[in-house]
Amino acid sequence: MIACLGRIVHDSDAESKLDDDVSTIFNSLNLQGSIENGDVSGIASKDFGGLYSVKPLYLIRPSGAEDISRVVKAAAGTPHLTVAARGNGHSINGQAMADGGYVIDMRSTGENHFKLLTVNGSPCIDVSGGALWEDVLRRCVSRFGLAPRSWTDYLSLTVGGTLSNAGVSGQAFRYGPQTSNVTELEVVTGKGDITVCSETQNPELFFGALGGLGQFGIMTRARVKLQLAPDMVRWIRVVYAEFEEFTRDAEFLVSQKEDESFDYVEGFVFCNNDDPVNGWPSVQLNPDQEFNPAHLPQTAGPVLYCLELAFHYRNSDLPSTVDMAVSRLVGGLGFVDGLISQVDVSYMGFLLRVKRAEQDAKANGVWDNPHPWLNLFVSKSDIVEFDQTVFKKMVKNGIGGPMLIYPLLRSKWDSRTSVALPEGEIFYIVALLRFVPKGPSVEKKVAENREIVKWCIKEGLDFKLYLPHYRAKEDWKRHFGNQWTRFEKRKANFDPMAILAPGQRIFKRTNQ
Ligand code: FAD
Repeated sequence: MIACLGRIVHDSDAESKLDDDVSTIFNSLNLQGSIENGDVSGIASKDFGGLYSVKPLYLIRPSGAEDISRVVKAAAGTPHLTVAARGNGHSINGQAMADGGYVIDMRSTGENHFKLLTVNGSPCIDVSGGALWEDVLRRCVSRFGLAPRSWTDYLSLTVGGTLSNAGVSGQAFRYGPQTSNVTELEVVTGKGDITVCSETQNPELFFGALGGLGQFGIMTRARVKLQLAPDMVRWIRVVYAEFEEFTRDAEFLVSQKEDESFDYVEGFVFCNNDDPVNGWPSVQLNPDQEFNPAHLPQTAGPVLYCLELAFHYRNSDLPSTVDMAVSRLVGGLGFVDGLISQVDVSYMGFLLRVKRAEQDAKANGVWDNPHPWLNLFVSKSDIVEFDQTVFKKMVKNGIGGPMLIYPLLRSKWDSRTSVALPEGEIFYIVALLRFVPKGPSVEKKVAENREIVKWCIKEGLDFKLYLPHYRAKEDWKRHFGNQWTRFEKRKANFDPMAILAPGQRIFKRTNQ
């Protein structure tokens, strides 16, 4: 299909002239996909955060890498235009937007790749950068009985969107983030080159793009490692009154060998009250059971901690074998007696658990509320101080959404990728996932997040923002620390005019 191109009307002659120039360039491109005018109410002006909105010049639905390359080259031919790949727009701070630039809707390429391969004796799948992880899951399990090893909690995110950050969930302690589970990428660079890269072929681009915040190229294909998909999951939650006991067990579990631990380890903080979102009711997995606070010790404070665990098994496993294995693992933990909740669910049901929460939240009308979220990686060395100040004081009354905290191992992350991490081997991901009604309280919550980050900096905590969103160059330099020079060099190599991912606000578009 030949691209259809609308005409944008501007007040000034200069802008009209510019539009004519751009129209001419685009008409000459002969795209297979389609183009429409940027619209302030369209998808390209919005994201999940609901905090920012800017108007793009055009929204492009490419058919594949060739179209994307043409768009990037066309932008390079102008003095000022930028290009943002939009995955599923689940960023918080406008990272997938392009003010007055081109937004590429990667979802239109979602079906382009889906091929099973064996690489060095192990199964892998080639998928599109614009594919949703939930589609990758469904197709891999139903067609091949296989599944990627490392996930995010929520799967309506695109492959390229999470690989641009890291992609973290309760499997990351064992397999590393999603960026550690990819062996090859096809990328359209900021020069418009379509390049295949891997650890051995164009490695600077490969490692740069992984966790690269979209700065070096647009991922059009990723080769993802697979493993045998289990049939079932025993999903377990156990409660702690003391942070030290919670972290001791969590760190123990993530440091054990594969057959001596769970297959998934996460955790969250909740309030010691009956608040339906952040209190006791948020813990029970089985709706028929109630959380009984009588089990809590008298010493319990305003916040409590929950370890969330999962054990994979197959339909052919004897129930007694599963029970025994789970009992052995649970038996080694020091949670509050009686405060355990568990259910058996299908593997797909487990991985799609947040989808169900999304459906409930949509039905309640809260899913589309603004989301001033804050995600951090905090080193084990500072996590007690973080708990004392942030969890026990700043957010002790809850945030209207989940407060996640669980440990990860630095050695499972490849330091050649662009992701910035704290120094220590064990660090915690902390996620304050706020759901805030539209109105003045949104700004207040953004300010509270800023206070937390400022406090971390002032106290000299070993931390990094995950899904970072700074505005000043100085902040970005601090964020990347001694990796900044490498990051800058990669930018100069692969996107010298700073055309890509302008919504990250790291580099300014140049005309050189
Ligand atoms: P977008 O928001 O569309 O894009 C994000 C950035 O990546 C932008 O800069 C964009 O330009 C760039 N980009 C998009 N596609 C490409 C591409 N193909 N190539 C290069 N750059 C690209 N994260 C976790 O790690 N673990 C979780 O458990 C988790 N859960 C989440 C749950 C919810 C409900 C939400 C809203 C977010 C969650 N996230 C989680 C964060 C999520 O991983 C990031 O926000 C991710 O960027 C969203 O993916 P997306 O496809 O919507 O990307």
